[in-house]
Amino acid sequence: MRYTQYFLPTLKETPGDAEVVSHQLMARAGMIRKVAAGVYDYLPLGLRVIRKVENIVREEMNRAGAIELLMPAVNPADLWQQSGRWQQYGKELLRFKDRKDTEFCIGPTHEEVVTEIVRGTVSSYRQLPFNLYQIQTKFRDEIRPRFGLMRGREFIMKDAYSFDIDDAGADVSYQKMYQAYRRIFKRCGLEFRAVEADSGAIGGSFSHEFMVLAETGEDAIVSCDSCDYAANVEKAELRPAASAAPAPALPLEKVETPNMKTIEDVAAFLKETPQKMVKTLILITEQEEIVAVLLRGDHKLNEIKLNNFLGCDHAQLADEETVRKLTGAPTGFSGPIGLTCRVLADLELEGMSDFGLGANEANYHMTGANHGRDFQVEAFVDLREAEAGDSCPRCEGKLEAWRGIEVGHVFKLGTKYSEAMQATVLDAQGQERVLVMGCYGIGIGRTAAAAIEQNHDENGILWPAPLAPFQVIITLLNPKDEAVLKAGEALYEELLEQGIEVLLDDRDERPGSKFKDAELLGIPFRVTVGNRGLKEGCYELQERCSSEKSMLPMGEAAARLTEQVRAALATDPA
Ligand SMILES: [Zn+2]
Repeated sequence: MRYTQYFLPTLKETPGDAEVVSHQLMARAGMIRKVAAGVYDYLPLGLRVIRKVENIVREEMNRAGAIELLMPAVNPADLWQQSGRWQQYGKELLRFKDRKDTEFCIGPTHEEVVTEIVRGTVSSYRQLPFNLYQIQTKFRDEIRPRFGLMRGREFIMKDAYSFDIDDAGADVSYQKMYQAYRRIFKRCGLEFRAVEADSGAIGGSFSHEFMVLAETGEDAIVSCDSCDYAANVEKAELRPAASAAPAPALPLEKVETPNMKTIEDVAAFLKETPQKMVKTLILITEQEEIVAVLLRGDHKLNEIKLNNFLGCDHAQLADEETVRKLTGAPTGFSGPIGLTCRVLADLELEGMSDFGLGANEANYHMTGANHGRDFQVEAFVDLREAEAGDSCPRCEGKLEAWRGIEVGHVFKLGTKYSEAMQATVLDAQGQERVLVMGCYGIGIGRTAAAAIEQNHDENGILWPAPLAPFQVIITLLNPKDEAVLKAGEALYEELLEQGIEVLLDDRDERPGSKFKDAELLGIPFRVTVGNRGLKEGCYELQERCSSEKSMLPMGEAAARLTEQVRAALATDPA
């Protein structure tokens, strides 16, 4: 592609509403343009990247045996009423009426439509299993669309739906998709983790989120450094303490800790580490039950785990007055000794002895405290948030902490839709069986945006080669110079013949601003063609991800570049 004949409106300024780096860079690089809140044009350069993601997704879905179709964006209300979602789905579902007053919505997902297809066409177990997918534009009326393609209202998605005769079959379909997703994100050249999102009752997990790792990610996740285990911090299980608590060695003593309310302050004052302290949180549930929760001084309470254990919806920190009433002291000095409410302790405390804790008296703490001897605990429960350095719940490895962006989700649906919409087949015995479904999504635009969140620097995008809109940019320093133009065009033609995607920057602009644009666009290989190099029979080569420049002898340039590009594109998906 010649730059002068291309449509590539880059921006010098970042649009004011672009909060995240992928949005900023996509707008500045002329990839997208806002039409309305959460609705974007995909300009030519952006579309090239979208197509790259789509092609990888399509190839791997086909490879896994899934079959492509295309369903309509416009869905009749009738189908959504059959599944019950017309009532359940909130304002995110964009509804409208046609001229005959018939109600419709724009599909944010397509379980209803695909189930209707299957129930109308499949009647025998012999036709199973299969997996239908589409790559299609969807709409979800987010209340606050932002972050560009990361959370738009209109978005391109790959959604797939598997149909099986039974649970065992559905598990096989799920595994196929799980493996296909791993291959997809590896082939995209992205660092990612498959995170357990929800654990089924009988072994195995039935939902995984695929997270692209990026410091700017919204989700906090942990993953094992030696096995495949990864989970959202909120859901990561933790193991009981490695060994039982050593026998108490110290007497219980009360120590004055004037005005020290934080664990860090008290620990420092006592010349201890927060790891030798226990903090006592007083919480109150929506049923107004008061619970004391004990955690190691440096640990964080995971409220979801606590709610699950208590069987409540929402336990929150009790107010000052409740704490005073219960403990006789202001917050910051609570301890379990003498408390009349339920006392729960995190698993970690099972292995602790002779620790410090609050004395239930203003300006005092206790040292040498021991559970069993000085106070009783109702139960030791996994109540804290996982963090880097914790032991993996599955193996002997250690957990690492990351931030992630969800780009894909595989989900074993079961019979929710097939039952509601009566999608059944006859089995080998002639019995009617409800189909078991799975659904599998990938945000196409979101994947492109996440790739930028993961791969950028202060000058622009650093595309992983498989997603780059072009692999090579040839920058002509002075296109008015006949020799420069000729040499640049010759290289351009040679690379095109090798199937390399090349952008020839033949604009009559200052070299500095061309280099800036090249960095902004993030094309992996830049070849500079200028007079000085030509006199020496060379082009200058610079990779976007490195600051080093090297010289390419003109005669070998096309062959060497082709080799380097192919090496960069060859991601091993296995
Ligand atoms: Zn592990």
